[in-house]
Amino acid sequence: MRPIVIAANWKMNTTPADAGDLARTIASRTREEGVTRVICPPSVCLAAVRDALEHEDVAVGAQNVHHELGGAYTGEISVSMLAGLATWVILGHSERRAYFAETDDLVGRKLDRALAGGLRPIVCVGEVLADREAGREAAVVDAQLRGALEGRDPAALAAAGLVIAYEPVWAIGTGKNARGADAAAMADAIRTSLRGIGWADHADETPVLYGGSVTSANVGEFLSEPGVDGALVGGASLKPDEMAGIVARAGLTAAARGLAS
Ligand code: PEP
Repeated sequence: MRPIVIAANWKMNTTPADAGDLARTIASRTREEGVTRVICPPSVCLAAVRDALEHEDVAVGAQNVHHELGGAYTGEISVSMLAGLATWVILGHSERRAYFAETDDLVGRKLDRALAGGLRPIVCVGEVLADREAGREAAVVDAQLRGALEGRDPAALAAAGLVIAYEPVWAIGTGKNARGADAAAMADAIRTSLRGIGWADHADETPVLYGGSVTSANVGEFLSEPGVDGALVGGASLKPDEMAGIVARAGLTAAARGLAS
């Protein structure tokens, strides 16, 4: 049975002075059975958020990790630096691909590090608008998955709890969102791609999240699709009211899928 995951990507927002309070407020307003909650603050806020969530069942995630273990990489964060601070990590977010030239190959190398460091990865994939308009979205996502995952051990990635987030780039931070049916079709395409790279035993157990302008008002459209297992939430994840609504809706899906006891 795949988990229902709601992951908050705070991007470059909050400070160590206010992140703990925000995390605590969100945690207290999102206690829903059967929903796995993850908060991914900026790296300088990880300690504050970890401390604030000490007594909550909410995981802390990093937004990125470097592909080397250490060395002359000014400004970067290694997997060993995250030990004790984060248990999840977002990899290959489209903003990292667009602004920091991250390639599929690099995402794959980061994935290796994340696994070795015991971090649970959320690998982001998604097409730009021109690709969708040309009907190439599944081919683009297939290439991203192959570039990051092919040749890696599916059983090890499944054991690490690999999550794929489908985030159409044209929907991120734009207020536009895909339709539930589009997200469901892509979740199917993602699992077909995984089977194509030798994941026959694990494709069906890999959670696929939707991300792209998710709010409490539209999350139901995605969660009502059986192939979609949650959401990666950006802008709305900074608003406790929004997170309360999103996770409440996820709780209904968890109950309907037999995940809540
Ligand atoms: C994201 O940061 O992954 C994201 C989907 O952002 P937003 O919800 O703001 O579109």
